[in-house]
Amino acid sequence: MTPVSAFAGRDVALFGLGGSGLTTAQALVAGGARVACWDDSAAQRDKAAAAGLAIEDLAAAEFSRFAALILTPGAPLTHPAPHWSAAKARAAGIEIIGDIELFCRERRARAPGAPFIAITGTNGKSTTTALIAHLLRAFGRDVALGGNIGTAILALPPPAARRTHVIECSSFQIDLAPSLDASVGVLLNLAPDHIDRHGTMEIYAAVKERLVAMAGRVVIGVDDAHARAIAARLAAAGKPVTPISAAGAPLADGVFARGSKLFRAAAGAARELADLSAIASLRGAHNAQNACAAIAAIGDLADDAAALQAALAVFPGLPHRMEEVGRLGRALFINDSKATNADAAEKALASFGGDIFWIVGGKRKEEGIEPLRRYFPRIARAFLIGAASEDFAATLEGAAPYERCGTLDVALQQAARAAAASDAREPVVLLSPACASYDQFPNFEVRGDRFRALARALIAQG
Ligand code: ADP
Repeated sequence: MTPVSAFAGRDVALFGLGGSGLTTAQALVAGGARVACWDDSAAQRDKAAAAGLAIEDLAAAEFSRFAALILTPGAPLTHPAPHWSAAKARAAGIEIIGDIELFCRERRARAPGAPFIAITGTNGKSTTTALIAHLLRAFGRDVALGGNIGTAILALPPPAARRTHVIECSSFQIDLAPSLDASVGVLLNLAPDHIDRHGTMEIYAAVKERLVAMAGRVVIGVDDAHARAIAARLAAAGKPVTPISAAGAPLADGVFARGSKLFRAAAGAARELADLSAIASLRGAHNAQNACAAIAAIGDLADDAAALQAALAVFPGLPHRMEEVGRLGRALFINDSKATNADAAEKALASFGGDIFWIVGGKRKEEGIEPLRRYFPRIARAFLIGAASEDFAATLEGAAPYERCGTLDVALQQAARAAAASDAREPVVLLSPACASYDQFPNFEVRGDRFRALARALIAQG
């Protein structure tokens, strides 16, 4: 744990005891603060009380006695309306911050030069964060990996000169971190997302920009207009910016991908650093973008191209993101349960050339699968599951063969059978549902775990 001393001897209010909240409260207490904790859920309050934390009904509390409100990133700060605790804090004129901000303050107080790589973007945050941590470890560094990807930042060991914190930051976490000053800031890409919580695309982009604006060195994807504008603005202001691109064209300066090959360029001279073609965990142009960002983030370490290639080759990837589960005969089984919308499913469909036996469906997103139409010729057969089945059947009608399977279990059986009967060189049984899972599963992880278990059982049977 990283005890937080910034509020030693003072009272703070903390709302939200799920996820990182409990750890944050404990870190503040360990640093000497008096923390009044609250959550709308009685179960969370009971858990915190059992851990020895002080529970106080913040709705009834007088906020002027608090030095700050520590807010969970799950509660709205501004849109669609401020959470009631945020409104009370504003009215009392106290700051509203989150755990990343507390970490930054502790780092400045304790080890200001400690390496701290912060990663954000609309898509690919977790993969890039995990890849940066993986590469640094491969190069022998002590790494603390956490933030939005899993372990709460304050549950990690404290910042220190010889330890690199590699931290995924969501836009909500950045919004609660006004002095976020990473040594390296990574902004992968920007596309409309979470606009309900930020108000407009411009506000969302401005929040994301804060992560790089205050970083010592920055890495920015220049393949979309919003991130490109940020890169230009920061470079003009004199910030050291490493642009990255996986759009296919070379950069004069920065790290870029052409096909599966990754290059670092300086003043127009490019040097090949790695080739992703045989690395199953980094398939697809989107992963080339993630790999470029990771290489740029680790800086000079990546210059040892042979060591870099060896380290990339053993990146295990993250579960549920185009995760290779195994092979049965020529058929390859891929778990992409994290693809909960068409945009994410597109990445998977684009990564496999053809002969896809596609398990798709669940709780439908607004856009459905219409945006994926140009990939329908790659679909050997679609296996429909969940509430979206009728709707997706209508979209696929006449464009790709499909069958209604109801459940994931039936769909996998059918898809495996069809793939086995296919004479394709490498038929792919792909769960990339383009839908939320909530109609049939508690979350996408449980859906992916089920697919993996069923696929492994089939493979074991041979
Ligand atoms: P995040 O943490 O930002 O949600 P993940 O690394 O968990 O991102 O990847 C989630 C999904 O987003 C992947 O399954 C893939 O479909 C897509 N994705 C990953 N990297 C990128 C990228 N660089 N650009 C666009 N989409 C991506």
